[in-house]
Amino acid sequence: MSATILVVEDEPAIQELIAYNLRQAGHQPLCADSAEQALRLVSNALPDLVLLDWMLPGASGIEVARRLRGDKRTRAIPIIMLTARSEEQDKLLGLDTGADDYITKPFSPRELNARIKAVLRRRAPQMTDDVVEISGLRLDPVGHRVTGNGENINLGPTEFRLLHFLLTHPQRVHSRAQLLDNVWGDHVFVEERTVDVHIRRLRKALEPERMDRLIQTVRGTGYRLSAS
Ligand code: CA
Repeated sequence: MSATILVVEDEPAIQELIAYNLRQAGHQPLCADSAEQALRLVSNALPDLVLLDWMLPGASGIEVARRLRGDKRTRAIPIIMLTARSEEQDKLLGLDTGADDYITKPFSPRELNARIKAVLRRRAPQMTDDVVEISGLRLDPVGHRVTGNGENINLGPTEFRLLHFLLTHPQRVHSRAQLLDNVWGDHVFVEERTVDVHIRRLRKALEPERMDRLIQTVRGTGYRLSAS
């Protein structure tokens, strides 16, 4: 699992330590030492997750969390709040910040990684390394391998990401815009019909194993992966 993680922490030593641990775990950290800088970074590109210190100079971490939750573009970014003491955490739990989880400092790299993994698994399952399988169609993110009833299926990188997203979010209809956001990434200016092109390629690759029937077109709305 490799995620882009925004670390919002004003204490340089802690920021550095967290960034080091994230890199060790295979993530790409982005660092900010204030709310303003954090919001600026988020406006450039959406991170996969935000580690947010509560006590920041100027606007607090709570303020940042509220801003992110209040904006349609950033609403779905998973947030883990960092607090200095457990009393702070108790107070935080009583506040409606919209955070997905809370960690009390000091924390071990192992705890941090476990929390990150749990939040991503819940909020962004396509970010994790878990093997996913539906109706005989199996995708292994670590081995970068797709099989249909045990037979190898070769996919291009975009089709692989597209299938990974669909397999981790089955039974739901995704609009072309949602697929662009989740598979191609935020701020990528690609026309919506590009999605149709890659869906067509994906279906073609799945056809020999008759797995293409799992991907359904929902007229006027988008696409859905459904168990057969
Ligand atoms: Ca702080």
